[in-house]
Amino acid sequence: MPKNIKRSWAEPYKMKMVELLKMTTPAQRKKALKEAGYNTFLLRSEDVYIDLLTDSGTSAMSDRQWAGMMMGDEAYAGSRNYYHLEDVVKKVYGYKYLVPTHQGRGAENIISRILIKKGDIIPGNMYFTTTRLHQELAGGKFEDIIIDEAHDSENLFPFKGNVDLNKLDKLVKKYGAKKIPYVSIATSVNMAGGQPISIQNLKELRAYTKKHGIKIIHDMTRVAENAYFIQEREKGYANKSVKEIVKEICALTDGATMSAKKDALVNIGGFLAVNDWDVFEEARNMVVVYEGLHTYGGLAGRDMEAMAIGITESVDDDHIRARVGQVLYLGEKMMEYGIPIVKPIGGHGIFVDAKKFLPHIPQDDFPAQTLAAEIYLDSGVRTMERGIVSAGRKANGENYYPKLELVRFTVPRRVYTQAHMDVIAESTARVYDRRNKIRGLKMIYEPKYLRFFQAKFEIK
Ligand SMILES: *Cc1c(COP(=O)(O)O)cnc(C)c1O
Repeated sequence: MPKNIKRSWAEPYKMKMVELLKMTTPAQRKKALKEAGYNTFLLRSEDVYIDLLTDSGTSAMSDRQWAGMMMGDEAYAGSRNYYHLEDVVKKVYGYKYLVPTHQGRGAENIISRILIKKGDIIPGNMYFTTTRLHQELAGGKFEDIIIDEAHDSENLFPFKGNVDLNKLDKLVKKYGAKKIPYVSIATSVNMAGGQPISIQNLKELRAYTKKHGIKIIHDMTRVAENAYFIQEREKGYANKSVKEIVKEICALTDGATMSAKKDALVNIGGFLAVNDWDVFEEARNMVVVYEGLHTYGGLAGRDMEAMAIGITESVDDDHIRARVGQVLYLGEKMMEYGIPIVKPIGGHGIFVDAKKFLPHIPQDDFPAQTLAAEIYLDSGVRTMERGIVSAGRKANGENYYPKLELVRFTVPRRVYTQAHMDVIAESTARVYDRRNKIRGLKMIYEPKYLRFFQAKFEIK
């Protein structure tokens, strides 16, 4: 055996149950795609082989989480599982007060209504669809203050989720700090390709916002993945555990919205967590209107139990290394095939640059939407558009034209194997080979809100 043979890592779990998949033919996929209006959101999951539409609610729960489901205390009020969850949120994240919600956007609705007044400005490190929409519905206006590097898919800067403090300072000078109730900070920025923010940047932001009396609300949906990148890349953090880093991140913010369907390894769930008693009071009142009583927030007791256990598993170093490691494996394979992807590779998925992949298709003909459709056609792999369709329209009806036009290959946690990753990369490479023959799409149905979910297209 050669001396310096590579030492591979492997998953820190084994399988106890499997879900059988339907294999489809090209003709079946062609028909299914047409019926879905070339929108991968409208495909039936039964017609999908490998589902990379999202990492949201698609993770495999552990045997412990399933056991927790059996321990559900389905009392209307004061369920034991709520108190367990509250305890875990305090211990793992450090936030003082918890309001469970049915998922992330439930928390976004509540915090936006409480903190935003009409005409307010909400700066953030790149928008997220539901987050921005709730900010707008509450009367606010989102302003992007992420560093310029985040908009360049080739830039190798290790913390492309960072905030540009000069951009924030300009907003403060222009509108006044009173018009800015909080800065909306995502960890592992989804729309930038799963790019992390550094502790150093967060510390600088904390110092600046403190001076101006501005809060930081943390979209902590992928905080553990962000913490892993800090451990890997930031000076002074190599010897800290992901758990310690997660707590340090949260301590630099005033409150958080969480979609537990991502990092926290559950199929449904979320919460709002804050440190300010007054905000908590109001949130606890409001949750009754939109979600349910403050000790269940739209969830069953068993859901809260699975979430409490999932949160604990999500900050385990071995878990997060394998989770991000699988994503890196897929990304490196794509790079070997010359496929243009966002670099550095992010934490939860691979983002293929559709502008570079299909340079002959103008943005108005939806290159990323087109590419997602073509990949499904080739292999039954389902991905998602993150470009002009997702960006939607401004209040004045004009389209947003995002700089990045991406197809997102989101990897569910603990679900697929390395062989699945090979199939995905090879299929994308096949489509890349015949890219010159691919034509764009035309939108034939456009919903009013979050159009990417239900829009329909035909081949142009
Ligand atoms: C998924 C997600 C949300 C919204 O959460 P839901 O649980 O889907 O309502 C908010 N922010 C980010 C970054 C997300 O990825």
